[in-house]
Amino acid sequence: MSGQAQISIWGAGCAGLSLARKLSAQISSGDIKAPVSLHGPLSPAATDSHIWGFWQTDWLSEPASLSKQSWKSWQIITQQGRVTQTSQSHPYHALDSAIWLQDCADRSEGKISRSEDAPARSKQGLIFDSRTPEVPENSLLQHFTGIEIKVPRPVFDASVLTLMDFRCDQSRGIHFIYLLPFSEDTALVESTLFSEQTEDRAFYMAAIERYLREVYQVETYEIIREETGCIPMNFLKPCDPALLAIGANGGCVRPSSGYAFAFIQKQVQWISQQLASGHVLDKIQTPHRRLDSWLDRVFLSVLKAHPEAAPEIFLSMAKALTGDELAKFMSGLAHLPIYVKLISAMPKKMFINQILPAQRQKWQEG
Ligand SMILES: Cc1cc2nc3c(=O)[nH]c(=O)nc-3n(C[C@H](O)[C@H](O)[C@H](O)COP(=O)(O)OP(=O)(O)OC[C@H]3O[C@@H](n4cnc5c(N)ncnc54)[C@H](O)[C@@H]3O)c2cc1C
Repeated sequence: MSGQAQISIWGAGCAGLSLARKLSAQISSGDIKAPVSLHGPLSPAATDSHIWGFWQTDWLSEPASLSKQSWKSWQIITQQGRVTQTSQSHPYHALDSAIWLQDCADRSEGKISRSEDAPARSKQGLIFDSRTPEVPENSLLQHFTGIEIKVPRPVFDASVLTLMDFRCDQSRGIHFIYLLPFSEDTALVESTLFSEQTEDRAFYMAAIERYLREVYQVETYEIIREETGCIPMNFLKPCDPALLAIGANGGCVRPSSGYAFAFIQKQVQWISQQLASGHVLDKIQTPHRRLDSWLDRVFLSVLKAHPEAAPEIFLSMAKALTGDELAKFMSGLAHLPIYVKLISAMPKKMFINQILPAQRQKWQEG
């Protein structure tokens, strides 16, 4: 039992609403008796759909059951080669943000009070803060624009998604196409860059157009919807260290990949279990292992210093691992043999040279 201390959730986005969903279930079962409130306007992602991708794990069965589609195979492609991986136990899911957030909101209805107003600090109780954290200058960003399209003839292999295809303009940063084939003639096609500066919409759209023409010989298509985003690839400080930070504000974005959905779900599950079992919550653990965070730091330092090497590094990593192993690594479930394979696949000199700069950066952040 969580006692009777009031629980407030600040920010009604992915983390805030996912936590509200978990706590609603525990209010229903009687495990949580404290009043719970959610503060802030509903995230635009609740009405303007975008896709959250994740590999299925045991704590993601609910979002997986609501996903738009899943794939057991995915590929990474560069000018030099292609790796296709398959996993039966960790398929890749595409979840519509509006479906998930509306489901969370619906399940919280009547159990959790909602206020659109900016939150006010109360002297008592627990405050879970998912407000958007500040991004330090010179951070590497993952920025993208994608379109869901319908093409006039069947061209996509709907059984394999493309995680990264680097056969596109590399002049503005590390650039790849992410393609989720929903059927033979519909897909989400995204132009994604890792760089310090976002681009005009025209840049991403031209990259998508060129890719469809050169790889699929597709000249015309109908745009069903568009999505755009910018995710900081950095270690962010919480908005207010005195509060219980969750979501992107609570370190859930994996800096080396921008993936956060799976880690947010892991974090809110942990919180709800702690509350239900009556533990005192004075700190939220990061959902990432120390070794993963350390590897991410060195990896980011390598990407910043050698962006031209990125396509080969990603391809070598994929060659070194099986589909199950890659899915586990991306979901924070790697074990020793996976780390050994990954580290062996990396260009040794580049990585060793970046260990000190990465460590220096960590010390500077304090
Ligand atoms: C377009 C897009 C695609 C993505 N795709 C993937 C993906 O495929 N896989 C993956 O794992 N991750 C993905 N991510 C990353 C990550 O999952 C999301 O950023 C996720 O939404 C983070 O959840 P959050 O709750 O921390 O932040 P948000 O969902 O942004 O929620 C924060 C909320 O706080 C509110 N807020 C801010 N300030 C205040 C304030 N002062 N008072 C009250 N409320 C406030 C905001 O309005 C917002 O509603 C994607 C991100 C974007 C933007």
